[in-house]
Amino acid sequence: MTERKLSEAEDASFATGQSQYRTSIMKEYNPECTPEIESWLELDDQERIALVATYHRVAKIKLPSAAAHAALHAIVENQIALNREPVVRAMDRLGKGGLTRHDAVHAIGSVVPEHLFDILKTDQNDDAATSQARYYAAVERLTAASWRRGEH
Ligand SMILES: [Zn+2]
Repeated sequence: MTERKLSEAEDASFATGQSQYRTSIMKEYNPECTPEIESWLELDDQERIALVATYHRVAKIKLPSAAAHAALHAIVENQIALNREPVVRAMDRLGKGGLTRHDAVHAIGSVVPEHLFDILKTDQNDDAATSQARYYAAVERLTAASWRRGEH
């Protein structure tokens, strides 16, 4: 990450008044390594998306929509950091099936768009629980083989 980007991130945290609570600011995202949970959760979503986008740009990974791709990464990493069991299990299963950590994030991210509305429901009524369950069921069905076959 460039110094300019870092100072932008610091400005953002200052603007939201969070800077005094921070112990360390995560400066880099690498999808092959599990982010340190506390550092990841300290970031706001915009900062997470910026770090993910920077990684893909520096790695020169061509994407139809870099912003959408980075947002999917952030959603999946949030679920891992919050220890959402179906997602954590899927990361493990996909890794054992031979996918890199980055590809495992992509595989899970591939089922996010069709369940986005479900995932973003935050109210804890029965309806939201059913919606989350549908998303988790889709995550549970993911395998390294199905990802390689392009079924998602
Ligand atoms: Zn990616």
